[in-house]
Amino acid sequence: MAVQTTKRQRTCIGCGATLGKGALHRIVRNGEGLVSFDPTGRLAGRGAYVCSEDCLAAARKTRKLERALRCKVTDEDYERVLRELALAEAPGKNEE
Ligand SMILES: [Zn+2]
Repeated sequence: MAVQTTKRQRTCIGCGATLGKGALHRIVRNGEGLVSFDPTGRLAGRGAYVCSEDCLAAARKTRKLERALRCKVTDEDYERVLRELALAEAPGKNEE
């Protein structure tokens, strides 16, 4: 019996790199229109993927994040997502 491995490729909205889902950071807009970083990759809502902070910054400049999420992304949203993403990328910086 073949084991079904559906490794769905995702595209970074910053640089356009195509990577496995685990290699990218997910940003999600929930039903209430709140944009946030999704460390689990499982939150409900429309998602967009970036591979790094730099790519998020690039996507911010080009408004690709807004297009991907189909909503307005405020400065506040960007700052929050950037902060959360930075925490997730920095090893040993657990604030639990
Ligand atoms: Zn990227």
